[in-house]
Amino acid sequence: MNAINTYQQTRWSLADLFPSAEASAMQQAFSNLEQLVAQFETIRPALTETLSPADFLLFVRQLEEINIEGGRLYGYANLLFSEDTQNQPALSLLTRVQQLFAELTNRTLFFSLWWKDLADAPAEKLMAVSGDYRYWLEEMRHFKPHTLSEAEEKIINIKDVTGASALSLLYDSITNRYTFKLKVDGETKDLTRGELMIYPRDVNPDLRAAAYQELYRVYGNDGPILGQIYQTLVRDWRNEQVGLRKFTSPLSARNLANDIPDEVVNILLEVCQKNRGVFERFFKLKAHWLNIPRLRRYDIYAPLAAADKQYTFAQSAEMVFDSFTQFDPHFAELAERVLKSNHLDSEVRKGKHGGAFCSTPLHDQTPWVLLNYQGKPSDVATMAHELGHAIHSQLAAKHTAFTAHASLPLAETASTFAEMMLVDRLLAEEMDEGVRRDLLFRQVDDAYATIQRQAYFALFERQAHEMITNGASVDELSETYLQTLKEQFGDAVEVGDEFRWEWVSIPHIYEVPFYVYAYAFGQLLVLSLYRQYKLEGEAFKPRYIKILSTGGSQAPVKLLAEAGIDITRAEFWQGGFAVISGLVDKLEQI
Ligand SMILES: [Zn+2]
Repeated sequence: MNAINTYQQTRWSLADLFPSAEASAMQQAFSNLEQLVAQFETIRPALTETLSPADFLLFVRQLEEINIEGGRLYGYANLLFSEDTQNQPALSLLTRVQQLFAELTNRTLFFSLWWKDLADAPAEKLMAVSGDYRYWLEEMRHFKPHTLSEAEEKIINIKDVTGASALSLLYDSITNRYTFKLKVDGETKDLTRGELMIYPRDVNPDLRAAAYQELYRVYGNDGPILGQIYQTLVRDWRNEQVGLRKFTSPLSARNLANDIPDEVVNILLEVCQKNRGVFERFFKLKAHWLNIPRLRRYDIYAPLAAADKQYTFAQSAEMVFDSFTQFDPHFAELAERVLKSNHLDSEVRKGKHGGAFCSTPLHDQTPWVLLNYQGKPSDVATMAHELGHAIHSQLAAKHTAFTAHASLPLAETASTFAEMMLVDRLLAEEMDEGVRRDLLFRQVDDAYATIQRQAYFALFERQAHEMITNGASVDELSETYLQTLKEQFGDAVEVGDEFRWEWVSIPHIYEVPFYVYAYAFGQLLVLSLYRQYKLEGEAFKPRYIKILSTGGSQAPVKLLAEAGIDITRAEFWQGGFAVISGLVDKLEQI
């Protein structure tokens, strides 16, 4: 019998972070951290142009130590809270750690300010000896050409508190107060947005429609004022990023933060726009399975009758480990280590954090994984996904605490790849058409939500930033938004007029302009890599392992280029859509 069969659903142990939540152990950790920071603060006078490489490295290591100890405390508090969100002591510990973090960030900020300000020649000398810290150090300095004088930076900071940041907060305050009325089973309920948004996934089509209509009735009522807040934030962004900091466009300020060249982002968005037909085909299939002539926008997340096939936890673990072994036995070992270290919480318990995640509080230790395992085919896919994250972390564990974690655009690489491998395997073996359909639907559904939907938000943002510069009104923006939706869905989905207010309901475009495209970038990248794997087989593996093992120690473009992948070419991105298109083909055959 395979040893894996012995695995049971369990709660995790956090003992590798802290032996217990005892007040004394925590107190010790807090005072230890305080001591490290106090010591770090004393280096301030030594930060000069003539700082020796040896001292420099010593200081960097001290800062890393603070990060590691802080990460241990934060990781512990966060995981303790996740295993039981009703645990009041855990919540107060988490709040205390968060507060401490804000304070520590301020107290150690002087180092990065000095580093960014340092002239090129001495900085280059220090970077030359910085080994694995190099990319982290380089990245901080990317903003040097766009950094203003200290006095100007201070003015921006001070004015932001009562300017852009205050407006963002105001947006949150206005929209977080909204309540929504929905008639469910003859009874009118008062709901928060979170509660309301359960209904777009309801089996009842009228309820799905009513939920969206109510959502945009409420946002639409305030549409003019929310739109005005957006116009102001967009003008502020342009004035600062383009006007003062001399970025070439509002979008390129974000691109630099992601360390992705402008032309790559433009190509990515173009390819997404060109391939909208792939998802339109998917929505037509969904309409067919829902037995309606044409999908309404309300039905995008409508549930299909799910297959009732169940997998025991042991079966599921075996399938996941098997698919990892087929790729590389070392992958299976790394995934198994999570279970063997008792770092997996797979039980379903009241009060436990919902969904699933993988967390790596200490970059060189086995990660922790949370699942709510219930035996559905999608739970098996989720297990593969989260253990994929855990494999990624462990492969990159040899880097420093600053360079181990993959940057946002690469963060979903191993997880989505692992999920694709598992699904491929299940599809090859599974004869039950219901299960096959559920698995494929989940894949394409996720691809839609992370790629196409986000790419179209970014496309709208880019257009809106231009329009607002040219004095567009809120109504004109809404009209443009509705047009982008109609372009996105073509004749496959009927879009209700109230969706013209969807954009004022998306906090990301207010708070972090152009953030959303990173989701599309990451997801499409993995699909393209997966296609490369399918085409090349064995030859692809060492390059892929290298990508994962690099963690966050290199710029994404460079790292991928070294693996022979040129993300500046439209063909590469097109490969990702070829995978999605293949999934839709398979769905069409069912
Ligand atoms: Zn993930």
